[in-house]
Amino acid sequence: MLIDGTLGLVDVEEGIKVIPGANTIITTLDKFINWGRKSSLWPVTFGLACCAIEMMAAGSSHYDLDRLGIIFRGSPRQADCMIVAGTVTKKMAPIVRKVYDQMPEPRYVVAMGSCACSGNVYRTYSVVQGCDLFLPVDVYIPGCPPRPEALFNGLIKLQEIIMKERMRWSPLK
Ligand code: SF4
Repeated sequence: MLIDGTLGLVDVEEGIKVIPGANTIITTLDKFINWGRKSSLWPVTFGLACCAIEMMAAGSSHYDLDRLGIIFRGSPRQADCMIVAGTVTKKMAPIVRKVYDQMPEPRYVVAMGSCACSGNVYRTYSVVQGCDLFLPVDVYIPGCPPRPEALFNGLIKLQEIIMKERMRWSPLK
């Protein structure tokens, strides 16, 4: 903890200062908005294949994604995060993209598992070789399937990315 000698401000974390005795904190709008976003990530509820089972396990009481503020939503219009969990077939890709298009900005995409990252071993006519061919992926989680802990790690990485965003709330960005 550092104390600013001239104003008496106390550094509690990088970019956050407290005025002692005034019950007041001082920070940047970026930091404040990013903190709100990363603390309330709401993924849209859907899964494509076996990886979705691990995603469901991550949401269960044993792992408890809720403690990070991550709560699955039933409608893309209430969600700001898409976890692509499973094999994306060419038949499903336009539907996945449609769900993504219905999500409001700012929105984030996590590719969960080798199928979503790169098509895995399915080098066939029917499988998309990575969901980044039709979605802007923020975080890739390798594994077949990745365990719930790996999904946690990926979502924590996404929170770190969100905390580094600058002026995503502003038309001047
Ligand atoms: S990465 Fe493995 S576990 Fe996940 S959807 Fe593909 S085959 Fe299933």
